[in-house]
Amino acid sequence: MTNFAVIGNGAVGSVIANELKSAGKNVRLFGRQEQQIILSMPQQVKLNVTSLVVNQEKFDYIFVAVKATRIAEIRSALIKMCHPDTIIIVCQNGIGQLLQFNMAQSFQAAVYISGQKNGLQVTHFRDKKLILPEHQLMHQLKEELSDTELVIEVSSNQLTILWYKMLVNLGINTVTALSKNTAQIVEIPELRELVQSLLKEGILIANTHGESFTHEVVDEIMAIYDGYPPQMGTSMYYDTLENRLLEYDFIQGEFYRLARHYQLKTPVLDTCCILLSAYQYKKH
Ligand code: NDP
Repeated sequence: MTNFAVIGNGAVGSVIANELKSAGKNVRLFGRQEQQIILSMPQQVKLNVTSLVVNQEKFDYIFVAVKATRIAEIRSALIKMCHPDTIIIVCQNGIGQLLQFNMAQSFQAAVYISGQKNGLQVTHFRDKKLILPEHQLMHQLKEELSDTELVIEVSSNQLTILWYKMLVNLGINTVTALSKNTAQIVEIPELRELVQSLLKEGILIANTHGESFTHEVVDEIMAIYDGYPPQMGTSMYYDTLENRLLEYDFIQGEFYRLARHYQLKTPVLDTCCILLSAYQYKKH
């Protein structure tokens, strides 16, 4: 029987593991230590978490759902979990990190699962969708998961979907993290202008890199932000509140690196990146 591992017992990983388990799949959910967590969706489900470091088993499919800042930490455990035909699905925001998953055939999913982890509680808010890139192995995985309630799409446009998600994250994650305030801040006229400038720079970078977003995308993304509940935070906002490392390097940092590479003028992005990197600066 095909076996599945999910690494990361947080918002995304718990939902994936629970849906696989509910469909009778052979699945293990891995975290830092043995424990039981409660997933509210909204009915409460108990999930057993296995310690990643003591694992000896190898898996056919591995969903990686730790934050991108934790990839280096799980690397040696991940190598031990792979056999020659293992397929890794990287369920993370950001672009560029797939190169670090060279221990097996790896694909990045565009993740549409919204939730939040708080201690031993995970709350699922909405969506259970993963969009995968066009590849015969991804069609095979879609088939494997057709009896689960996960929505699996395979798209030839998936890279553009990942870039669109990068743009959505670029605007709102940056300003909520830097202001330590929730989505209500998009009501402030000056902040809207700042976010619009940031999005225009993001589009310039993405398009120079091969995408073809129109300028209407700025208004489209602003409308998405306007639809957020005012008290909603972003993952980067919650990470600043908890003094955790930000996925900055994989989102804003990727835009920043590409802007340097293509010698683009991106003054708003540059300022935001300096402040975000200063947030995580430690003198040693
Ligand atoms: P969470 O922080 O909720 O979950 C990550 C989990 O990984 C935590 O349980 C964490 O444990 C565990 N973990 C971290 N390091 C290790 C390690 N070394 N060994 C074992 N387990 C470890 O993250 P999310 O689920 O929110 O995010 C996962 C990815 O999905 C991110 O890239 C995020 O940007 C993306 N995403 C998230 C969405 C959301 O709504 N949450 C929406 C779309 C994308 P511990 O808490 O003990 O550190």
